[in-house]
Amino acid sequence: MGEFDLAGRRVWVAGHRGMAGSAIVRRLATEDCEVLTVGREEVDLRDPEPLDAWMARRRPDVVFMAAGTVGGILANDSRPAEFIRDNVMIQGNVIHAAWRHGVAKMLLLGSSCIYPKLAVQPISEEALLTGPLEPTNQWYAVAKIAGVTMAQAYRAQYGCDFITAMPTNLYGPGDNFNLDAAHVLPALIRRTHEAKVTGAAALTVWGSGAPQREFLHVDDLADAAVHLIKVHGTAEPVNIGTGTDLSIRDLAELIRGIVGFEGELRFDETKPDGTPRKLLDVGRLTRLGWTARIGLADGVARTYRWFLENLDRLRR
Ligand code: GDP
Repeated sequence: MGEFDLAGRRVWVAGHRGMAGSAIVRRLATEDCEVLTVGREEVDLRDPEPLDAWMARRRPDVVFMAAGTVGGILANDSRPAEFIRDNVMIQGNVIHAAWRHGVAKMLLLGSSCIYPKLAVQPISEEALLTGPLEPTNQWYAVAKIAGVTMAQAYRAQYGCDFITAMPTNLYGPGDNFNLDAAHVLPALIRRTHEAKVTGAAALTVWGSGAPQREFLHVDDLADAAVHLIKVHGTAEPVNIGTGTDLSIRDLAELIRGIVGFEGELRFDETKPDGTPRKLLDVGRLTRLGWTARIGLADGVARTYRWFLENLDRLRR
């Protein structure tokens, strides 16, 4: 099968203000295509009618579906209704509208949390729906599983070229540094920075420090997403990751070094650990011709610089 060509296409990035969507918009600047975006104030994607009208007017050929309600372990656990409702509705509306308006190709971004809590590591795409989910983010996971399955259903029934990809934990510029909703990497950048500035003796890291996580810089994600739109055209989901992980303790040490915090690290075991490990098997992605380029130390250093430059406008 030949490559899907983006040249001359009208490409809608849904969720362009989010970390993943904004990185995809940046990446598409180097492609010969027209990028379309629409803000939430104009079209709330949870509502099918304004979306339908917008699609009829703007007629995208290609969709990168990166819109959704996202957050870290605390946000998932404390706002379960919003996480499941927003994501089910947004995906359902976007997928249905993409079919109705004849979109030629769509990539739906899932998440590595859709895999069973105790999946065999590294986690292959085949592990989907083979066991119970991690309870702390099951709401988001069930919604994302619905989205992936729905994309496959529209391919099966209507022949839509909708593909799905499962990124591992993402980080980078545009990340959420608000501590109530942040994932571990931006949360630790912020808290380590604040500990340094206030001259604290110690920094408390949530959980035991033992869980292992894989982190992908969002510019790598965007590059992989554009690659997959071009070369992938089947129902099989594709994991997007680096193929390596580290413990939360090692991550906290790495961030401490980059930020330059001299105090010690303490672990608060009253906070949840979440799933013990979630390293993705990136064999399928590698065979499709893509590998991650941005190393973690380099990526964290860049993200810390972005954080410092944007400190004034970041909410607490
Ligand atoms: P998860 O990957 O879905 O579990 O979500 P997170 O990125 O929020 O958390 C990953 C791991 O980092 C969990 O074991 C957390 O307990 C741990 N962690 C340590 N310190 C922090 C922190 O300050 N914020 C967050 N969100 N997680 C932390």
